[in-house]
Amino acid sequence: MEKRDYYEVLGVAKTASEDEIKKAYRKIAIKYHPDRNPGDKEAEEKFKEAAEAYDVLHDPQKRQQYDQFGFNGPMGSGGFGGFGGASMNMDDIFSMFGDIFGGHGFGGFGGGGRGRTQQMRGGDLRLKVRLTLEEINKGVTKKFKVRKDIECSHCHGSGAENGSVKETCPTCHGSGVITHTTQSIFGMMQTQGVCPTCHGTGDVIKNKCHECGGSGVVKGEEVVEIKIPAGVAEGMVINVPGKGNAGPNNGINGDIQVFIEEEENDTFVRDGNDLIYNLLLDFPTAALGGEIEIPTIEGTKLKVKIENGTQPGKTLRLRGKGLPAVKGYGNGCGDLVVNISVYVPKTLSREEKHALESFRDSDNFKGDRQTKESIFQRFKNYFS
Ligand SMILES: [Zn+2]
Ligand SMILES: [Zn+2]
Repeated sequence: MEKRDYYEVLGVAKTASEDEIKKAYRKIAIKYHPDRNPGDKEAEEKFKEAAEAYDVLHDPQKRQQYDQFGFNGPMGSGGFGGFGGASMNMDDIFSMFGDIFGGHGFGGFGGGGRGRTQQMRGGDLRLKVRLTLEEINKGVTKKFKVRKDIECSHCHGSGAENGSVKETCPTCHGSGVITHTTQSIFGMMQTQGVCPTCHGTGDVIKNKCHECGGSGVVKGEEVVEIKIPAGVAEGMVINVPGKGNAGPNNGINGDIQVFIEEEENDTFVRDGNDLIYNLLLDFPTAALGGEIEIPTIEGTKLKVKIENGTQPGKTLRLRGKGLPAVKGYGNGCGDLVVNISVYVPKTLSREEKHALESFRDSDNFKGDRQTKESIFQRFKNYFS
């Protein structure tokens, strides 16, 4: 195969950013990965060609030298960093660019998992729970009846009939992994995967349990108690380890994920850990001052002093009377914020009308000037 320009190999412009180069290489590497193209020599070539191009172009120094001098750079006839084509080996590529393959199921190369057997893990379960603000305030324990994989009582989860023994997996000889070895012009190539016969456990059951068919788990019901801490909020997920589906063959149990939903409250609006209470104050108390009662999430009443001349739009902050923070996420308690508006009577008796009429011309009842000033003040604060 003739040596192609590195930029051409990755299909990027000479001005490509590091990120573009990485993305382009990743795409090619995944497409021509030997795991996806077993025995395909051409794919292997392309895979190695791309790795070489990436090795040079993702390193600013090497890239600059390549841009300036081409393949016969000042580093000598060996090319760049010993990456002279035929000397390359697959293990090097995987160890050098391991991060590129991360999370794409290409792990397990390079001998890391060799000789280690796996336990099978049961699947996770998802539950939704709807909570009131009162429950959120205190924290609550909820019971759920869940249908899930549970341990087979006949074989106690082993999957074996009447204590029959397990024997070493004939496919992987107990290692849990299988290794494919292929001969290529670059030498022996090895790739590894989980053994399909024993799913990585390393052994197989001689006589399978007639109840569960050898899996060690059956469908069943279980009542699960889940403690939900105080202070949770809509959208939070609580992970309960080990309460999900039982792991096959006495493996590891899955988890339960509880998704929190929050019911609307008639009295309070939640804002983070603060609770907002909208108070509609009667006009005489707003004007004369007095004492009123504010409900709390605890179900009690708080006596609050109202100053004379209290204006609509005023807020009172009752420290620590909001919701608690979830343990480990912030500390202390939110506040209870009282937003005050003033109730203007909609119907009046003749006497009341008469009394109010007499105040119409009183300077004390003319709020015009003050209102304009306070609006001006508000805007000034806003823009400064
Ligand atoms: Zn069984
Ligand atoms: Zn096996």
